[in-house]
Amino acid sequence: MRKFWMVTTSCLMAASFMGSAALAQNAEAEAAAAKAAAAVVAARATGQVSPNDPQEKRCWIGPQSRTVEIQKMEPVKVFDNLYHVGPCFVSAWVLTTPQGAILFDTAQEPFVDMIEANIKKVGINPRDIKYIVLNHGHIDHFGGAKRLQEFTGARVVATPEDWKMIEAFAGKPNNRDGNKPTEAPKRDMEVREGDHLDLGDQHLVIHTSPGHTPGNLFVEGLVLHDGAQTYKGIWGGGGGGAPGLAGAEQGVKNAEKLNAVKGVQVYLQTHAWQDPDGYPGGGIHERAKKLTNRKPGDPHPFVDPATWDARAKAQLETAKKVLAAEQAKGGAAKAP
Ligand SMILES: [Zn+2]
Repeated sequence: MRKFWMVTTSCLMAASFMGSAALAQNAEAEAAAAKAAAAVVAARATGQVSPNDPQEKRCWIGPQSRTVEIQKMEPVKVFDNLYHVGPCFVSAWVLTTPQGAILFDTAQEPFVDMIEANIKKVGINPRDIKYIVLNHGHIDHFGGAKRLQEFTGARVVATPEDWKMIEAFAGKPNNRDGNKPTEAPKRDMEVREGDHLDLGDQHLVIHTSPGHTPGNLFVEGLVLHDGAQTYKGIWGGGGGGAPGLAGAEQGVKNAEKLNAVKGVQVYLQTHAWQDPDGYPGGGIHERAKKLTNRKPGDPHPFVDPATWDARAKAQLETAKKVLAAEQAKGGAAKAP
C-alpha cells in the first residue's frame, strides 16, 4: 500500500482512496472505507450527471473528463498577470512578468490544442513562456508538457522523484486520448525543497509535499496584481500524505509546511472543482463567474484568505487524525 502512488495514474483515484481508507480505526473499518472509496471511484468512472448540472460538475465525471467538447473552456484573466488557460477538470495557469511568463501544469492530450489556443487568445507570445512547472508526475498534470515545451521553448520543472514517474510513464496508454501512447517530456530542470524560481517580479519558493506522489510540490510567493492592489498567492498544496505510518507522518509534516506559509490570500487550485473536497466558496469556475459579474469596487472573488486558512488548518487536523489512527494500528498489532 505504501507504493500506491506508483500504480495510480490519476489524482482523483489516489485522493479518494487515501482520504477515507487512512482514517479508518481498524481492519474492518478500513475494509469498509476501501469499499466505499472504490465505489466513489467506480461512480466517477461510469457516473451519470444531469445535463442540467453546471459544466464544472459535469466535466469531472468519467467520460466527460475525456470529452474535448465538454472540457473546452475560454481563457480567464483572473488577475492582471494571471490567466487560467486550462480545460475544465484540470487547470493550467500562466503567470506573466515583464521578463517572461511561467506556465503551471499542462493538462494532457487531447486538450493541448485548447491550451495553446487559449495562450494565444489572451495575447501571450508562447515564446515568452520561460518555465513550465509540473505539480506532480500524474499524466493529467504532465501529459501536455512535451508539446508545450516545443510550443514555448520553456524549461520544464519538476522534482527528481516525479521526473522518474514521468519517465516511467512514457509510451504508456493515455487514458483520456483513446489510449494512445503518452509522450513524456525529456528530464529537464530538477527542483527540491526550498529552491527558488525567480523571474521578473516573481520570487517563487518551491516546497515538496511527498504523498500524493513521491515528489508532489506546491509553490509559494506568487504576487498577483489587481490594479493598484497586490495579493499573495499559492499554487497547489493538496494531497496530504500517503498510506501507512510513514506516509501519515509525512502527511503531518506536509500540512505543517503548508501552514507555515503565512499571509496566503489566493489559492490557485490544480483542479478547478474538487468534489468531494471542494474548495468552500467555490472552485475556479464558480469564482470566475463571479469575476465576470464583478462591479468596480467589489472584492476580488479569488481573494479569500479566510477560506485558505481554514483549509490549511483542516488539512493539518486531518493529517494528525490519520497519524493517530496509524499509530493505534501499530499498537494493536503489538498486543498479544
Ligand atoms: Zn495526481
